[in-house]
Amino acid sequence: MTVKALYIMSSPRGGSTLVSLVLGQHSEIANLGEVSFMPKLLALGEQCTCGSELRECAEWGRVFSELASSTGVDLRVDPYGLYLDDAMKRKDGSGKIDHRRQTIGRVAIARFRGAMDTLGLALPAAIGGAWASLPSVKSGMNNTMMLFSAATKVWNKEMVIDASKLPRKAIHLYRAFPDEVRILHLTRDGRGVCASRMAHMSFERAAKRWQHYHRITTRLLDRWVDPDRRFFLRYEDFTVDPERWMKQLCAWMGVSFEPQMLVFNSDGITHSAGGNPTRFKLADEGIRPADDNWRSKLSAVNIAQFETLAGSINRQLGYR
Ligand SMILES: [Zn+2]
Repeated sequence: MTVKALYIMSSPRGGSTLVSLVLGQHSEIANLGEVSFMPKLLALGEQCTCGSELRECAEWGRVFSELASSTGVDLRVDPYGLYLDDAMKRKDGSGKIDHRRQTIGRVAIARFRGAMDTLGLALPAAIGGAWASLPSVKSGMNNTMMLFSAATKVWNKEMVIDASKLPRKAIHLYRAFPDEVRILHLTRDGRGVCASRMAHMSFERAAKRWQHYHRITTRLLDRWVDPDRRFFLRYEDFTVDPERWMKQLCAWMGVSFEPQMLVFNSDGITHSAGGNPTRFKLADEGIRPADDNWRSKLSAVNIAQFETLAGSINRQLGYR
């Protein structure tokens, strides 16, 4: 098998934590979690799914040592020493911000680089192709692949899962390593996503952000990634019949389906970084159907707002 990484593209609250954890229970697959946010998670002392601090997790320690031997940078000592990408967090998003790192100046630089990158990816392939060799993009992809390689080597796995969900990063990784990288395009009904984000932001803003994410994602995937190199999965479908979808996904990735992927219990200790609190509850709760309480939670005004802002793309993704 040459494929080395499955990159998950999904909006926030789109189900990527659960799907990545399921995949990570395969004997040949390691779910690394949100790789792009690893520096921040280390700097802020956040936890691995095993319960230890990431910096102190012995399993990650082996990976960081291996990575240090190939790059000269030990992320435990210098979390931001290896550029993976800008990976900024928004103030109204979920997840903590490392305020010592994410300064106004760095955010400005990241925005500028992001705008340039968006432009590069919108240009015709022949011109946009040169974009991937911009120094920041190129080193980010190489460093990320080195981290993937260190994890597969040390943990003796065939493949890693990266659930960082950054659309442009997915495209660049695939373009830099077309034989090694595959993309899982995971979607969830925008009304459900927005209902679950209302605690953090206005419904209108959540709908705009969801629409923006999917517009960009769909456009980038159509433009840059061969259809047979990406797998489309609706989160709701997955939770209703996880076995059916995992079998299909495994067949597509070239690994055999393993029933234990779907079984969470307290013996199964995994080591992934980032993700929502779901990751600590699965042994008790297991895989449950995606909640559809947006149907009762959203007002008629919300539904109408969503329809105006994001209705057409939601339908395009198969939601009625
Ligand atoms: Zn751990």
